[in-house]
Amino acid sequence: MKVKNLNGTAVNKCNCKSWLDHWMKFSRQKANRCMVNDCRNLPEVGGHVQKDSKTDKSWYIVPLCKPCNGKKGEDIDIFDGVNLVSANVAETCGKK
Ligand SMILES: [Zn+2]
Ligand SMILES: [Zn+2]
Repeated sequence: MKVKNLNGTAVNKCNCKSWLDHWMKFSRQKANRCMVNDCRNLPEVGGHVQKDSKTDKSWYIVPLCKPCNGKKGEDIDIFDGVNLVSANVAETCGKK
């Protein structure tokens, strides 16, 4: 599926150790590689992405390697089976 790799998301922080931990906690999947199709690197970070959708402008987290995460503002093609985890802290790790 096509997603947009977001710019300037370093300011967005959550209660987990890292965004990659955040993804593992809520996806219930294993991050065994960078989720970009045709990339075989290990996942190093939880990257912020947006769906290719006119209605859903929410931010989501997917495991990415650093080179893929560095492609800010570009469309990337990721593995269809990956669970997109919400980057909205109020809905996930910040839930009271
Ligand atoms: Zn979190
Ligand atoms: Zn990658």
